[in-house]
Amino acid sequence: MHCPFCRHDGSRVVDSRTSDDGLAIRRRRECPACGRRYTTIETASLSIRKRSGAVEPFSRSKVIVGVRRACQGRPVSNDDLALLAHKVEETIRATGQAIVDSHEVGLAILGPLRELDEVAYLRFASVYSNFNSLEDFERAIADLRTAHAGRPVARA
Ligand SMILES: [Zn+2]
Repeated sequence: MHCPFCRHDGSRVVDSRTSDDGLAIRRRRECPACGRRYTTIETASLSIRKRSGAVEPFSRSKVIVGVRRACQGRPVSNDDLALLAHKVEETIRATGQAIVDSHEVGLAILGPLRELDEVAYLRFASVYSNFNSLEDFERAIADLRTAHAGRPVARA
């Protein structure tokens, strides 16, 4: 990496620290030529292979865009969406793969979305899993009911 000030090739690391979420390392660097300091951020490469075969960098904002559509009219805040996207990224990074199928991103969204809002979950699942009959919805709703049976009811 070249110094952003004088383009000198090479630098000395003066400080390294892991970001709060553990997904990135920030390094404070000093250029031996001009003496100025700058910061670099290092993350493990994570790419998504789309159904078309095209590969693109993983993007939390794309996850949010997809999920927000399913959340229209639901009591879901931007913070909720940001947290969900964060969980999705952690799940995908936990696989340790550098390239992950977009299908797996959808799977990683289903769990936290179900925790967040069940109506949005059903909407998302219906598109993602190609629900094409009432029976598909009935099965998904039955699954949600079963899950409810196993935990205390805490809703109005
Ligand atoms: Zn420099």
